[in-house]
Amino acid sequence: MPSPVTPSSFSTFRRFFPSVGIKWGGSMNGGSMNGRHFRSTGTLSPTRQVREAQSRGFSYSSKQQRQQQRQQQRLALNSVGKKKIHGGTNGRRYSHHQQHIPNYVYFVGGIPFVGGIYLYFRFQDFVPLTGRRRWLATQPETERIFGDEKYRLLLAQYRNNILPKQHPATVKIDRIGKRIFSAARKFADENDLSSFDRNNVTFTVVNSDQANVFILPGNHVFFLTGMFKYARTEDEIGGILGHEMAHNLARHQGERISSSVVVSIIGAFSLLIDPSGSLLYFFAPAVRLFGQLPNSRIQESEADQIGMRLAAEACYDPEALSHVCRRTDKAGRDGNLANKPPEFLSSHPSDESRIKDMQKWLLEDRKIFNMYDGKRCREFRRQVNNPTNNRIFHHSHSREHEAPDGMPC
Ligand SMILES: [Zn+2]
Repeated sequence: MPSPVTPSSFSTFRRFFPSVGIKWGGSMNGGSMNGRHFRSTGTLSPTRQVREAQSRGFSYSSKQQRQQQRQQQRLALNSVGKKKIHGGTNGRRYSHHQQHIPNYVYFVGGIPFVGGIYLYFRFQDFVPLTGRRRWLATQPETERIFGDEKYRLLLAQYRNNILPKQHPATVKIDRIGKRIFSAARKFADENDLSSFDRNNVTFTVVNSDQANVFILPGNHVFFLTGMFKYARTEDEIGGILGHEMAHNLARHQGERISSSVVVSIIGAFSLLIDPSGSLLYFFAPAVRLFGQLPNSRIQESEADQIGMRLAAEACYDPEALSHVCRRTDKAGRDGNLANKPPEFLSSHPSDESRIKDMQKWLLEDRKIFNMYDGKRCREFRRQVNNPTNNRIFHHSHSREHEAPDGMPC
């Protein structure tokens, strides 16, 4: 885009090159100034230069006129507090005014800036065991209310498929879950996690083809029986429930709510800057790809690490979770690999990388599992290893090559 030639630059040019003809327009072929368009007029005589300029609304002023202008500028500056940079006398004004920014603008603009810094440091938090620093602005009570509400809704949604309390699957999940919950309470005490609700836990087993297990704030665990295709032994179920309980110990749901509030605020600001919504159109997927998905993978990995610790504490084999991941990995490859998103697009890390990480953490968890020369868990392990107690659940509607969906591994 051609740069506009201003009258000031034009005057300077004429002062140093009085004999050179005038070329209007930054590109010498035409241009614009204050919305007015100019054509190249070629070389003109000094008299015609003045006439041409006057005909376009500009003027050459004599030394006396220029002094008068400066005087007027000074008066204007004193009276309205504005600085006039340049001006013309005859014809239209091409000067612009540089406004002084009032102090209150800095004050008003500074409040969100200072407030943002304060909130950032005020709600700094650390994940237990992993020590990851994160931003957590929700209160545990708020998360619990959210969890309780969602729990009621899901009970209504699954009401026709919830297995009764005396059903063998419900009895087993309840028994394993309570051992894991007990280990979670110990973990919360050791890590000074006052936010963890030590008094409430529910286990709801839903008859479903879906292979899924999840937890809500308030320790409401939902176990969908399709998961028995992949979690077959008591140790493996212990690993899965440990993973779920770990999400609540680490308050991952609160972290997600906190970040979604920040994303909503930034999204609203982007609409102020660009009301057409184009900025928001690119902002939303970028946040998901570069913020939410990587963070979700970190959370899943943390839930594996803490969950294995809970399983070991509850005397379940901490390695059993990796067996479940191997099965889901195989199902993904055999059954419907094309539908499995790559890790960078997935909310879960790939099974392969999870299994690798689990091998790293296993050393420490084995020490807990075998504590006191194995005496700590010996009696319980006898019960677990009893074939009648540890029988495999087969889901009546299981399909061999069904791809896992929304499951923890
Ligand atoms: Zn998970």
